[in-house]
Amino acid sequence: MEITKRVALVAHDNCKKDLAEWVEWNWKLLLSHKLICTGTTGRLVEETILKNLEKGQSLKHSIVKLKSGPFGGDQQLGAMIAEGQIDLLIFFWDPMQPHPHDVDVKALLRISVLYNIPTACNRSTADFIISSQLMSDRYAQKLTDYSEYIDRSLPTL
Ligand code: PGA
Repeated sequence: MEITKRVALVAHDNCKKDLAEWVEWNWKLLLSHKLICTGTTGRLVEETILKNLEKGQSLKHSIVKLKSGPFGGDQQLGAMIAEGQIDLLIFFWDPMQPHPHDVDVKALLRISVLYNIPTACNRSTADFIISSQLMSDRYAQKLTDYSEYIDRSLPTL
C-alpha cells in the first residue's frame, strides 16, 4: 500500500447517517486519499466533503461513484479488491435488516478477508483505522499463499 490509500466506503441506508457523521469528522484526513464508493453512499460522501471545503479549495482526487449496492456496486468493489485496486474498506452494513443484495454483502466481506484488506464494519473500527499511523505510511500487507490450491492437479477423464 502506498501513502495515498484507496479507501472504499459503503453504508446501508440505516447506517448512512453514521457514515456521514464519520466523514464529517474525518473529511480533512480523507482528502489526501482516493475515495471509491457505491453510488448513493458516494453522493452522500461527496456532499459532506464539499460542504466542508473552504472557498477556493477543491478535491485533490475526485470521488469514484460505482453502481448503487443493490445494482452491483458491492460486486464492483469486490472485483476491485481482487484486482488490487482497494486498500481499505469502510463498510457500515446494517445488522438489523435483511437486504435484497445480502449475498453481495457477504461476498464483499469474504473477499476483503481473503485479500487481507483492513475492514471496518462499524464506527469504532473506522476510528481506529483512520487514526492509525499506517494511514500515512507505506504498508506491505501479507497475503496467504494459495498457489498450491490454485495449481492443484485436475481430475483426468
Ligand atoms: P448505496 O449502496 O451506497 O448505493 O446505497 C450501498 C449498499 O446497499 O450496499
